[in-house]
Amino acid sequence: MSIINHKSRRERMLDEFSKNNFPVWGFFLLLAIYLVGAYFVRISSSSTRIVFLMGQPLPLRSLTGAFSSIFNLCVVLMVVIYKKPGLFVSLIAIAVQYIPIVISLIQGDATAITGFFVNSFIIITVLLLYKYIAKMEKSQEKMRNLAVTDRLTGLPNRFAVSELSDARIKKNEPFAVAIVSLNNFKGITNALGQQVGDQILIQIGKRWQSLADSGKTGTKDLVAFRKNNEFAVVVSDYVSEDDLYNTLACYEEALREKLIIDNCDFTLTASIGYSSFPEDAYNTETLLNNAYTAMYKAYKTTHSGCIVRFTPDIIENDASIEIERKIRYALENGHVYFNLQPQYDMNHKLRGFEALARIKDVNGKQISPVDFIPVAEKAGLVDSIDREVFSSAAKFFGGLLKKKNSDLTLSVNISVHHLLRMNFIEEIHEILASSGLPAKNLEIEITESVMIESVEKAMDRIKQIKEMGISIAIDDFGTGYSSLSYLSNFPADVIKIDRSFIMNMSSGIEAKRYVAAIIAIGHIMKYKVIAEGVETQNQLENLGEAGNDFIQGFLWGKPLEAEEAAKLIAEA
Ligand code: C2E
Ligand code: MG
Ligand code: MG
Repeated sequence: MSIINHKSRRERMLDEFSKNNFPVWGFFLLLAIYLVGAYFVRISSSSTRIVFLMGQPLPLRSLTGAFSSIFNLCVVLMVVIYKKPGLFVSLIAIAVQYIPIVISLIQGDATAITGFFVNSFIIITVLLLYKYIAKMEKSQEKMRNLAVTDRLTGLPNRFAVSELSDARIKKNEPFAVAIVSLNNFKGITNALGQQVGDQILIQIGKRWQSLADSGKTGTKDLVAFRKNNEFAVVVSDYVSEDDLYNTLACYEEALREKLIIDNCDFTLTASIGYSSFPEDAYNTETLLNNAYTAMYKAYKTTHSGCIVRFTPDIIENDASIEIERKIRYALENGHVYFNLQPQYDMNHKLRGFEALARIKDVNGKQISPVDFIPVAEKAGLVDSIDREVFSSAAKFFGGLLKKKNSDLTLSVNISVHHLLRMNFIEEIHEILASSGLPAKNLEIEITESVMIESVEKAMDRIKQIKEMGISIAIDDFGTGYSSLSYLSNFPADVIKIDRSFIMNMSSGIEAKRYVAAIIAIGHIMKYKVIAEGVETQNQLENLGEAGNDFIQGFLWGKPLEAEEAAKLIAEA
């Protein structure tokens, strides 16, 4: 198939959503008004008849100007709305008037001179108007093409996918959208650089584009590049579900052939998820979301490539896929942010704040860290969340401390996986330098249960952090079964008694004694003690009697938005 054919096939699909929306019947209506107007101009200009308009007698001849304006307006509207066909019809219609006028003029009829000038003027006007509109359209078309084309691969981009999908839904035409994600693409770019990654995307894009253009899949397909390692294929004109699956299998198959870039061979696999209209969704957003969910399912199932159709039970059966998708969306779109929960000493004097991660989904709905942190840990995304919260909270807090000349502490939660990353120390240096937050005002919270599993590896890192002047808190203390010998050697500054122990305090004397014992042991080990989840006055009093140092809980302060926390600091 020729290149011209390839282009026209893809362009035809893209053009579907940019077609002129004015109906054909409007064209004929304008033509009819024009002809009626022209007819009346002709008979009125030579008539001596009197007509009555709103009860007033008027010579028909006096309405010639009005009729003439109507048909001139029709001529202009024809060109503006229907462009080329409008121009042709207008020129023919004007010529029908114009030719007899020119003939009369040649025959020496001087009265035809007005008609001659008026019609000549209209012809020039419509030609100039058409030229101007054509020029405008050309530049608009250029801009539109830029807006719907991906610069790297030259393929249609995600806006093109959404627009095409919207257009199909509007016309009620069945189609499917597949999200195709290249597996291990990040690993390749991390190892070999972004340039190699870009070449891979370009070559795969070309390969899939020519597959779509060749018509070998048997369906009408549009291949688009969305972002990072993701492509999309919009498939239509399939007869059965098998046809649709076979088309997507063709794209997967096309990947199996080796790619050669800079003398290196690559064989990639892809995870493909798809969902179709009208079976799975009635709007583009849900359709794409469903395709994403199916793609994650495909990825989770094999990690090496398979095709999964969206079914509602994917969401029901595997909520974590949905949460992982939401985390990725939040990270990519800046929807990860932080709340600050105040910590007080036993005299209600502000000690500082703990930064707590928050994310919002595509509808702006908040998801609890209790739900998303475990999923983020499993999916390897927790480092990115920690980093986002750490850097934005440090920036906010550093600026605030400087402004208020205050000495409060900012606590951040860091996962052990993140703590053990090679460049974690440089990351802290960078964040402290760019935020202006002094190291002595920073506290890093590490959850006890996870830390004791990797205590040997973590110990060195924790010592390095402490040498920088940053303090260490053991979070959720009491849930990790740490032995006393390990505790006495651990270079922490603070232990945070887990909320479950504080909650139990109201249940009886035993639980109170247990908490008192933790506080006493903490003090023997020279740690400061923070009680988490203090909700009642009674808990507060018992903690005071046991010699507890600080509290964090709803009784004195819930997690606050950054601006509210700033107000609290100002008041303090
Ligand atoms: P955490 O570090 O132990 O944080 C304390 C949690 O207890 C927070 O829940 C806080 O809102 C809640 N809390 C505090 N006082 C009370 C109270 O009086 N009553 C009740 N019912 N709850 C209280 P949140 O914000 O849902 O965070 C849950 C956990 O998610 C955190 O527990 C922490 O383990 C994790 N997390 C939060 N942000 C991050 C982060 O940026 N990175 C990492 N790795 N983990 C985070
Ligand atoms: Mg914490
Ligand atoms: Mg805790």
